[in-house]
Amino acid sequence: MRVIVVGAGIGGLTLALSLHAVGIEAVVCEAAPEVQPLGVGINILPHAVRELTELGLDGELAARGIPTGSLMYANRFGQEIWREPRGKAAGYNWPQYSIHRGTLQAILLEAVRARLGPDSVRLDHEATEVDSRADGATVRFKSRTTGEALEPLSGDVAVAADGIHSPLRAQFYPDEGAPIWNRRVLWRGVTLADPYLGGRTMVMAGYQDVKFVCYPIDPAVEAGGKALINWIAELRFPDETEWRREDWNRMGALEDFLPRFEAWRFPWLDVPAIIRGASVVYEYPLVDRDPVDRWTFGRTTLLGDAAHPMYPIGSNGASQAILDARTLAYELATAPDADTGLARYEEARRPATGKLVLLNRGNGPEQVMQLAEERAPNGFAHVHEVLSREELEEVAANYKRIAGFDREALNNRASLTPPMQASA
Ligand SMILES: Cc1cc2nc3c(=O)[nH]c(=O)nc-3n(C[C@H](O)[C@H](O)[C@H](O)COP(=O)(O)OP(=O)(O)OC[C@H]3O[C@@H](n4cnc5c(N)ncnc54)[C@H](O)[C@@H]3O)c2cc1C
Repeated sequence: MRVIVVGAGIGGLTLALSLHAVGIEAVVCEAAPEVQPLGVGINILPHAVRELTELGLDGELAARGIPTGSLMYANRFGQEIWREPRGKAAGYNWPQYSIHRGTLQAILLEAVRARLGPDSVRLDHEATEVDSRADGATVRFKSRTTGEALEPLSGDVAVAADGIHSPLRAQFYPDEGAPIWNRRVLWRGVTLADPYLGGRTMVMAGYQDVKFVCYPIDPAVEAGGKALINWIAELRFPDETEWRREDWNRMGALEDFLPRFEAWRFPWLDVPAIIRGASVVYEYPLVDRDPVDRWTFGRTTLLGDAAHPMYPIGSNGASQAILDARTLAYELATAPDADTGLARYEEARRPATGKLVLLNRGNGPEQVMQLAEERAPNGFAHVHEVLSREELEEVAANYKRIAGFDREALNNRASLTPPMQASA
């Protein structure tokens, strides 16, 4: 079997590695003429780290990412609402990693080239259209550099892993239009600063209208006693507001958001100083799309953000793309034919990710911050004055169940490495 993978993002590259591991040929086509380390930090949750570990990438992740030890929710005065251990500290068999998106993409790309051969990733190949038939698919491309048409590629299956603006998804859903903006904008940057709260803590502070998230991402700077802190400042705007088009790499301006965080000087973190310390700030309107009721059209299917773009709440964007990739390879390898494999993949992943898209619209696990703000807008002496332990635990546990990283379920579930490969 031969699979044409469109997009060399986190999902497309993980898919290529997973297909190769089960003996299926894969070619990855990427629109960008060069893969640059774009973006800032992301988190890979234990359920996705498990998959990357089974692909033999655990050593690279441990060397180039920070194993997140705990997650803390705080109000806008820096008062603690909820803190929980993360990764191995929480009893998972696998860690959670905070890592630069570009570093993760580079780890995957290096592995694809080393295992599948240098010709397995075709850069400057922008997919323009797919001809999806009952027995295979042909993808047409043009060069982003010259605009010229390139030779089409055919396979038994084509996979659109071409991100939130997926042109292949648009071919199947021509009336869908642009992603939906929910009136929130994120500003993101990285800042070299002193470590805070033990150096392994992910923090979320504020509530749904004004929020600050940060976590350290680079183990290389730790040796010098510093931390490279990835941060996200988020604001919600009135309903009638219009915003510039979403793009992961648009430059942001401090005056658009810093004033709202000027008073956020916590005993353990000086938020305005962290924001000012970044050399570049990116701006990104928070967007997603409605879940769709079909991913597979003939021999073409959708994966990752092309299939289920969701708000980056609960650290799930990259992790869900990794799970899609591993599931698709598993199903194609174990099903009697490609059509059954595609159907099983969609059945396993579409309803689950659709629920997550909707759950993230309702703040996901960050709902505890919203409740704390509504019940105690001027702060509290102790969080249990406003939120009971049971309430806090229920919000956290419910999200983990739906997102697929309930500890017992994950530690005990069967591997997505097919049995013939595991015993080989
Ligand atoms: C430049 C960039 C920066 C990002 N930064 C962050 C971040 O800082 N934090 C965060 O949480 N998430 C970030 N994301 C999103 C995050 O990577 C995804 O939510 C998640 O990893 C899902 O991965 P994916 O493979 O589905 O999509 P993506 O990682 O978005 O990858 C899609 C790939 O498809 C390529 N592509 C698009 N159109 C075509 C086409 N027509 N033909 C061929 N290839 C095409 C894109 O160039 C890209 O490489 C970023 C995405 C991008 C593209």
